[in-house]
Amino acid sequence: MRISGTALQSFVRALTGREAKPRHAGFVRFLDPDGQPIDEGLLLYFPAPGSFTGEDVVELQGHGGPVVMQMLLSRCLELGARLAQPGEFSRRAFLNGRMDLAQAEAVADLIEARSAAAARSALRSLSGEFSRKVDALQQELMDLRMLVEATLDFPEEEVELLEREGAAERIVAVRSMLEQILDGASQGAILRNGLNVVLVGEPNVGKSSLLNALAGEERAIVTEIAGTTRDALRETIEIEGIPVNVIDIAGLRETSDPVERIGVERAWHEISRAHVALRVVDARAGKTEGDVKIDRGLPSGVEVITVFNKIDLSGGAPVRREGEHGVELMVSAKTGAGMSLLRDELLRVVGWHGGDEDVVLARERHLVALRSALGHVREAGAPGLRLELAAEELRLAQLALGEITGEFTADDLLGIIFSRFCIGK
Ligand code: GDP
Repeated sequence: MRISGTALQSFVRALTGREAKPRHAGFVRFLDPDGQPIDEGLLLYFPAPGSFTGEDVVELQGHGGPVVMQMLLSRCLELGARLAQPGEFSRRAFLNGRMDLAQAEAVADLIEARSAAAARSALRSLSGEFSRKVDALQQELMDLRMLVEATLDFPEEEVELLEREGAAERIVAVRSMLEQILDGASQGAILRNGLNVVLVGEPNVGKSSLLNALAGEERAIVTEIAGTTRDALRETIEIEGIPVNVIDIAGLRETSDPVERIGVERAWHEISRAHVALRVVDARAGKTEGDVKIDRGLPSGVEVITVFNKIDLSGGAPVRREGEHGVELMVSAKTGAGMSLLRDELLRVVGWHGGDEDVVLARERHLVALRSALGHVREAGAPGLRLELAAEELRLAQLALGEITGEFTADDLLGIIFSRFCIGK
C-alpha cells in the first residue's frame, strides 16, 4: 500500500507505534486502534521532497490477502488517509515538479506498453529524453524571440544584428530539429497504437496459417480480456515490436450468446478502425464470388492487400505486384515464401520505417503540439516576413511546445490525462 501526503511521521507512529527511519526498510507491526496487530511487514518511508510524488511517501508491505488488506486499508482511512484517484500519484509528482507532463504520461504508457519495443521507448520518455529535446528547442526559440524582439526595439540595427547572430540559419536549424522529433514521435505513435488488420477470405484458404507464419517467433504476450472468447476472432501479434491486432472476419457470425455477441460487436468496432484488410485467396483458385461479397462489408477507408496463398502448390514465385485492386502478394504460409514481403507491406501501410533511438512513445496530443510548433516555425522563417509577425510566430511555436511538457497546460486537460491512469500510479 502506498500513501502520499504531508507529515506522515505521525501517521506512521499511530499505525505502528514506532518512528519511521527515512529510506530504510523497517520491520513493523501494523496496529488496529486498540494496539492489536493487523499484520506485520515492511515499512518504507521517503520524506519530502525526495520521493516519487515530492511529498512524504510511506509504503507498507504486508502479507496481502483480501481480508488483511481491507483491514489495513480501513485502518489507514481511519487515520485520515483517503483512496487515491486514478493517476493521482503521478499527478502530484507533476504538480510538485518531480516530473513534467510528458514524463508522467510515460508512466502510464510504460505500464500499458503492448510490446517490448513500446516499453523501451516509454522508458526513454520517462527518463526525460523526449522532454530534454523539447526543452532545448523551447530554449532556442526563446533566444530567437529575444533577438527578434530586441531588433524591433532598435530598428536601425535591425538587419545587422540578425545577420550577426545568424537568426535565419538558426530558424532553419530549429525547423529541422522539429521535423526530426516529429518523425520520431510519429513512429512512436505507431508503436503505441499498433496496426489494425482484418483478415478476410473463404474457409481453408489459409488465414490461420498465415497469421501463425506472420507471428513467427515474436508471438506477443496477449492479455485476455474477461468475458471475450479468444477464438478465431481476434489475435495480437508483433511485427518489429509493433502490436498488430488481427481480426478474422470469418469468426464474425450471428450469435445469440450474449457474451459472444459483445465480442462480435467489439470486433466490428475495431474493423471500422482497421488500417488494412488482408484478403487471402487460394493461389490455385483465385478470387471467388464469396470474396467479392466480403469486400462490400469492409469500411471504405481501409487499404486492401490481396494475398495469394499456397504458392507452393500452385507453383508461383513469391512476388509483389500492384494490381488494379491494390497490392497483390504471392506467398506460402506453409513454406514461409513471401512472408517477409507481407511483413514489409504491413509496415509500409502504417508508415513505419524502422525503430531507432529517436522513437518516443508519443501520444496524439504530442503530435498535434509538434505539428503546430513546426507550422509556426515555418511561418517565422518565411522570406520577407515582417519582424513583428516573425516574433509572434516564434512565440506561438514556443507555446505549443510548452503544452507537451505541461508548462502551459490547462487544468481540464490535466484532469483528462490523469483520469486515464490506473489507480495507485
Ligand atoms: P483458414 O480456414 O483460412 O484459416 O485456413 P487454415 O489456415 O486453417 O488452412 C487450411 C488448410 O490449408 C490447412 O490444412 C493448412 O495446413 C493448409 N495451408 C495453409 N496455408 C498453406 C500453404 O501455404 N501451403 C499449403 N500447401 N497448405 C497450406
